[in-house]
Amino acid sequence: MYADLTGKVAVVTGSSKGIGQAVAARFGQEKMKVVINYHSDPAGAEKTAAAVVANGGQAVTVQADIATEAGAELLLATALTNFNDLDVWVNNAGMEIKSPTHELSQADWHKMITIDLDGVFYGSQVALAYFEKQHKPGNIINMSSVHEEIPWPTFAGYAAAKGGVKMFTKTIAMEYAKDNIRVNGIGPGAINTPINAKKFADKAQYDRTVSMVPMNRIGTPEEVAAGAAWLASQESSYVTGITLFIDGGMTLYPAFKDGQG
Ligand code: NAD
Repeated sequence: MYADLTGKVAVVTGSSKGIGQAVAARFGQEKMKVVINYHSDPAGAEKTAAAVVANGGQAVTVQADIATEAGAELLLATALTNFNDLDVWVNNAGMEIKSPTHELSQADWHKMITIDLDGVFYGSQVALAYFEKQHKPGNIINMSSVHEEIPWPTFAGYAAAKGGVKMFTKTIAMEYAKDNIRVNGIGPGAINTPINAKKFADKAQYDRTVSMVPMNRIGTPEEVAAGAAWLASQESSYVTGITLFIDGGMTLYPAFKDGQG
């Protein structure tokens, strides 16, 4: 628990399930007021809201497409209308499409870039504009991936977007540090969420993914949410422009783990 988070207002994009849902629930535990965003799953968003309230926080749900500027503006407006302020903005929503790159349609490429990169820009921009206008400290957390570092064949659009998120995060962290606005990324490894449901249902694929993690297990959404709470809190007050990898060591070149090579 981070006492300084009590009563703070957060927006969490794509929080009807998975990591976003766990981040919102954790913010509830921190007694925060949380705007829960969903795209197409209102029931999931209600579940998240119930978890936030059960944990001691406050919640409001709102449908918005974060791949549009209007979606980001609606999320800010929802925070201001319901909770009168904004302190923390988490750009969590994301998606991936698998395809050999030479067969990847332009539509699917643009879908990944629009949701995974443009969405982070739109969200960050409205949050930055608010913090600047209010002359107040602010906190932005961008859900990136280990694939901002690790190339991922057949997921070129996703990796390109997350690589973009990495440099976007570092750049705006530097640009706004003077105003006490901190901007950090989180780089999850293999986490047990709906995005991986199909893959992890196949035992061979599950075992193969586990073999790529030095800690020999898949991570939980709650372990990622713990990092988000720390980055949102004053316990990380001198941290900006980093990616906090929460990956069981996946970014440590696990092929070398037996001392070979
Ligand atoms: P998920 O599929 O369970 O959840 C993604 C959420 O994003 C959903 O709620 C979905 O509705 C929302 N979303 C997608 N497009 C949207 C849009 N246009 N507008 C609003 N919301 C939209 O996935 P997850 O595993 O919880 O992933 C969350 C984030 O973490 C993503 O950015 C993902 O790239 C990243 N990530 C996940 C893993 C993992 O192993 N699960 C690993 C690395 C990075």
